[in-house]
This record gives sequence, structure tokens and C-alpha cells, in this order.
Amino acid sequence: MDSLKKADIERLLGWYRNNKRDLPWRDTGDIYDVWLSEIMLQQTRVEAVKAYFKRFKKEVPDIRSLSETDDDALLRLWEGLGYYSRARNLRKCAVKLVEEYGGAFPKDEKELMKLPGIGPYTAGAILSIGYGIPHAAVDGNVMRVMARYFGISEDIRSQDVKDKIVTLINDFYRDHPLSDSESVRDLSQAFMELGAIVCVPNGAPDCEACPWKENCICHRDGSYETIPYRSSLRERKIVKKTLLILRDHDRFLLHKRDSKGLLAGMYEFLSFDEWLDRDEAVSYAKKLGLDVLRITRIEDSRHIFTHLEWHMRAYEMIISEWQETLPEDCILANREELENIAIPSAFRTYIDRYALRERKEE
Ligand code: SF4
Repeated sequence: MDSLKKADIERLLGWYRNNKRDLPWRDTGDIYDVWLSEIMLQQTRVEAVKAYFKRFKKEVPDIRSLSETDDDALLRLWEGLGYYSRARNLRKCAVKLVEEYGGAFPKDEKELMKLPGIGPYTAGAILSIGYGIPHAAVDGNVMRVMARYFGISEDIRSQDVKDKIVTLINDFYRDHPLSDSESVRDLSQAFMELGAIVCVPNGAPDCEACPWKENCICHRDGSYETIPYRSSLRERKIVKKTLLILRDHDRFLLHKRDSKGLLAGMYEFLSFDEWLDRDEAVSYAKKLGLDVLRITRIEDSRHIFTHLEWHMRAYEMIISEWQETLPEDCILANREELENIAIPSAFRTYIDRYALRERKEE
């Protein structure tokens, strides 16, 4: 393996400055924007993040206000983005920054990585894009571009390959110091932008538009279909689930999930990790002291997480009246209130279906 060529880096910088996308968190000069967008972009498409970022930034404009935001408000702003531990870590990190670092990010990789939710990539992004300090920030886009440019055929999921790529970029910064912090900011984003819009993950890369085509190994030998090579991931675990959508004429019963684990602290319809038939569903409602007037099975649905899939069936159950004491950790919410409660998209799917059906019936 060689090293990054200065001429290619200059071409990449020039290409970036002429072709970069206009993104709401780009070039704002605010490290909070760099951090927030990087966390939101993990596992999520840029197009989907734009609206969330703007809304979040409007309501929670800086580190201090984030440190003071309560859990429910935070989860509501995050609702639909998934991977909710990211939101909780954001707040925890903000609290730590305010309490221990005067409300600003430290400028040291090791210190950054002690903060909740910050790994090597985000630390690299805060240093290079936020502070203009030369430091590799290697995400999936950068891995792909570098693997193709250098013809790296080993498993891109391996730590060795990640380390190699980080070293190649850091060596470049060391051997060819950039003249100003603006160039560092641009270069760090340029690697990612090239992967996002030219050396794309699905389909053929647009090598003709690429500033690296002259020296790129994959372009030379046409191996972009096999590089990057990825070993296969574990198969997802399938979890059967039943939702009981218990309601009267306008209020729904919601249950607050445990404060730890998947979708912690968010609200759901009562759910079971197994498939119940109608009789079992009705008998469960009876155990809660609820009299079911009507039960309807709703169309099945699937929700996919990284390591598991929920295969869900659901029953809408109209009940005559609520008991004076609701089941533990449960609340009642009418349709309007449902909009302002943090409900994960796996469950919100069913609320959206109600909205559709109710409109049809009007
Ligand atoms: S030349 Fe083609 S394969 Fe090589 S980095 Fe550019 S887009 Fe990717």
C-alpha cells in the first residue's frame, strides 16, 4: 500500500469546493451542528436527517439547552429517527460538557472519546470539521472511497482495515501539513462527500466525475464491484409480537417501556413477545378488568432493527370503560395527545393506519 498523493488531495479539495451539497449543518461554524448532525446521520440517510436537524436545532439550539432538555421532549424530537440511545447519549454528553468542560468540546481525541456516544469517527469529525485540527474522521463513505482508491480487498469490517485507513489519512496530514484550518475542515468533509455522491455504495461509481480517477486502483482494473469486500453480518433474530390497541371512543392506552434496553422510556401499545389469538387477547384485557365491546385484527406489520426484526400482529380492542386505576406504567391519550408523545415508529405505524382508516370512514 502506498500513501495518499498530494496532487490527488488537492484535486479532491478543488472538487469538493465546487461540488459539495448545501446541507443545513454545513459551514455554519458551529461545533454543536457538526456533532448533532454526525450523531443523527449514523444509520440514517442525509435526506431524512435534514428536517429533523432543523427542528431539533430550532428547539434545542446549543449544548447548554440540550443539557437542560427533559427525556420526553428529547425523545419526541427524535421520534422516527430510530436508534434512540443516540438521543439519550447526546443529552448525557451535553450534561457532561457543561459540568466538566465549561460547555465546550475538548480538543483532544482521548478526552472526546470519554464522552457518551462519541467514538473514533465522531471524535475525528469534531476535531477536523469542528475545530479544523488535522485528524482522520473515517465513516463508511470514507472507508469505501479509500478501499477502492488503494485496491484494499480485505474485509472492510475488520479493525485492521479501519486502522490502515485512519493511518493513511493521519500520515498525509503529518507529511503534508495543510496551510489553514479551513482546508482541514473541507478535506475531512471532502472524503465523505466523494463517497456519498460519486463513489457511491449501491451501483457503479461515477468514476468519470471523480477527482481520483487517474490513480485509483479500482478504476484502473474495474474491481469496484468486489471492493469494498464485506463479510456477511449475523442474521437478524425474528421476534413475534402482538400489540393490543386498547381504546374507548377517543382515548388509547399506552404503556411506558422500561428505562433500559431497546426503545427505553418510550411509549407503546401493550405488547407481547409472542403471537396471541383473539381469545387470548380478550382474556388478557379481562384480566386487566376491561370489558371488550369489539375486537378487530389489524393488518400485520414488520419493523426491522439492526439485529432483529419484529413481526407484529395487532388487535384494535374497543372497551366500554377504564378501571379507576390503570395498569402499571400506563397512561391514556387521545388522538391529539398521541402526536406529542414519544412513540417509536414501529408502533406509530398503527396510529398512521388509524388516521387513514378514519379519514376513509368520514
Ligand atoms: S475513481 Fe471511481 S472507484 Fe475510484 S475513488 Fe473515484 S469513483 Fe471511486
